[in-house]
Amino acid sequence: MKTTDLFRANIRSLTPYSTARDEFQGTIDIRLDANENPYNTALNRYPDPHQRGLKATIAKLKGIDDQNIFVGNGSDEAIDLMYRLFCEPRLDNAVSIAPTYGMYKVAARINDVGFREVQLDEGYRLDADKMLAATDSNTKLLFVCSPNNPTGNLLSRSEIDKLITSFGGIVVLDEAYIDFAADGGLLGSLERYPNLVILQTMSKAWGIAGLRVGFAFADKAIIGAMTKVKYPYNINSLTQQKAIEVAQRVERFQTKLRSILSERERLATLLCSIDKIECVYPSDSNFILVKTACADTIYRQLLENDIIVRNRNTTVGCEGCLRITVGTKRENNKLIDTLKRIKL
Ligand SMILES: *Cc1c(COP(=O)(O)O)cnc(C)c1O
Repeated sequence: MKTTDLFRANIRSLTPYSTARDEFQGTIDIRLDANENPYNTALNRYPDPHQRGLKATIAKLKGIDDQNIFVGNGSDEAIDLMYRLFCEPRLDNAVSIAPTYGMYKVAARINDVGFREVQLDEGYRLDADKMLAATDSNTKLLFVCSPNNPTGNLLSRSEIDKLITSFGGIVVLDEAYIDFAADGGLLGSLERYPNLVILQTMSKAWGIAGLRVGFAFADKAIIGAMTKVKYPYNINSLTQQKAIEVAQRVERFQTKLRSILSERERLATLLCSIDKIECVYPSDSNFILVKTACADTIYRQLLENDIIVRNRNTTVGCEGCLRITVGTKRENNKLIDTLKRIKL
């Protein structure tokens, strides 16, 4: 099946909104085409709807073509677009791993699309056959997340490959945490897999969650459809400008990344030495999942000491678990110190 046959009929036949900025690119002296205010405030002009500068920077950084890049208002925009592009409300469904990032399910509910969850095994490993067995002829999307949130581990490369090659629909692979992982991820396999959509973000390793910049990398047919459906000016001028600046400073990025990684290893070792912590799960991300003697009590006592972590105690497969983001050395030390002092 061709990827383009997977789009909903209304998307295939859609004529997108054409902005004033679509008709002319490049520099021009007098712009009277977009009903903008002529007085310069540095923000009086509409932003580039195609984010050409940012895409060129990311294309160079990742070694891919700019036609394979979608820029969204966070990864969440790309997740929502997957449903709008591929799933008929009240008819189609998506299959996801569990436990995982909550937005896949929320976006399914908002779009009135069925959502099925397949539990990872006790080691939080992915079983491709089990996931494929949960699909039917109305399954249009598979969601996998590697390294996975909240478990922190990379999923098996060969199981992910198997999903992509065996499934007739779209596989969305969320690599929000891939920069923290030992493995480089699947970006290098994009050309081989026309049904693969890889999500990455500038919110985590790049350190600009406040700007809201997420990426989808995929075949140009999929990127083209996402571009047709998105709000024309989805990324504002300040964000485009700042994201380019940040993405160009690769050395600063690597320095911060290295310190987060070394703090992760130090924090994991310290957590292992605490009696109340029963298990410290291996992490390929910037957080550590721990199983505790009493998650709710520890969570509350940390809060009383001005420290917040993520309580995952009520998540199936994460009973007793807290998800702890790797902080600065000072923050991590304070956490460890407080954990040691807590009375259960
Ligand atoms: C944090 C996170 C994201 C990033 O979302 P943004 O909208 O880009 O900030 C995406 N996926 C997962 C699994 C995450 O944990």
